[in-house]
Parts: sequence; structure tokens; C-alpha cells
Amino acid sequence: MNKHFDLDGAIRKIPNFPKEGILFYDITSILTNPEAFKYCIDWMVDQYRDSGIDAIACIEARGFLFAAPVAEKLGLPIILVRKKGKLPGKTLEKTFSLEYGIDTIQVHEEDVKKGTNFLVVDDLIATGGTVRAAVDLITEAGAKVHEVFCIIGLPFLPYKQLLKGYTVRTLIDYESE
Ligand code: AMP
Repeated sequence: MNKHFDLDGAIRKIPNFPKEGILFYDITSILTNPEAFKYCIDWMVDQYRDSGIDAIACIEARGFLFAAPVAEKLGLPIILVRKKGKLPGKTLEKTFSLEYGIDTIQVHEEDVKKGTNFLVVDDLIATGGTVRAAVDLITEAGAKVHEVFCIIGLPFLPYKQLLKGYTVRTLIDYESE
């Protein structure tokens, strides 16, 4: 694997999206760049192979894209954390604050097996509200969260406090918005 890949160069930055004052870190420019996408997936596979995780929970929608190839390579089940109203079975849900608004996420209750050691994956962690809600859903269902992984971290926002007690790993951090 290419350990010196310029991931920053592969991430498109869009000022004032979706509203004034937000710098949007756009991972679609990783998806259109096979070398960049491979770098991310290979990194995750190396990191989480033999790490003790039994399943990957990923957050709609961009988290799905990074979790799925890793789960397939590691032979692990994928549990989708979706926006309210998308999952057809019996669900558990959590409402939480976002950097720009509020939202409700759900998981299929029977897919979160008690005692399972989860990796939680999303594309980016900002305030940490989304990931925290996913972590709470999983732990309240009786499973454990081994670790959280996001491609991008914004450590100037308070996600570390919100996820105190959990390891949050990121591939690249940005210090401003
Ligand atoms: P948060 O709950 O504040 O950690 O927000 C995380 C979610 O919102 C992730 O699913 C991101 O996709 C999205 N998000 C928040 N802030 C940004 C940003 N500056 N650029 C791109 N995506 C963002």
C-alpha cells in the first residue's frame, strides 16, 4: 500500500456549503479517484484486520461507501445506521443535534447482536453528534463499540468530549473551517 499518498489533495473543499461559514469536506472526490479510494480502503483493512471487531456499523450515506469494501475484505457483517423511515423492520432510534440541524437515526434491532464488538464508520466527524447517536444505539442494544473510524476529523469541534471513553481514529484531520 502507498503510505505516502496525498489524501488532502484528493479531498475537494467547498466553502459556504450547505450554509454560510461551513467549509464542506467533500469525499465524492475520493470516490472519483480510484487511487485515493484504494488508499482509504487498504488503510482501513490493515488497521482492522485481526483487531477483534465482529461487525461494522456504518452511517448513512457516505459511511456506507467506506464500510462496505472493508467488511467484504474482512468477512464481517455490515449493519446500516439509516435516517428515520428507511429501514423496514423493527428499529431502535436516536434523535440528536447536528452541526447544522437535528436528525433521527435508526438500526434494525435484531441486527445488533448482544455482545458483538462493533467498528462504527462514517466519512467525517465534526461535532460527533451523529457518531455518538450511533454509538448509543449500538450500546443500548447490548453490543459493544470497539472503536470509531472516520476518514476525516475536525478536532477543533468538540467530538472528543462527546465521545469520551471511546477511541476515535481518523485518516486525516483539518484544523479549521
Ligand atoms: P457531526 O454529527 O457534527 O459529527 O456531523 C457529521 C456528519 O455531518 C457526517 O455524516 C458528515 O458527513 C456531515 N458533515 C458535518 N460537517 C461537515 C463538513 N464540514 N464537511 C462535510 N461533511 C460534514
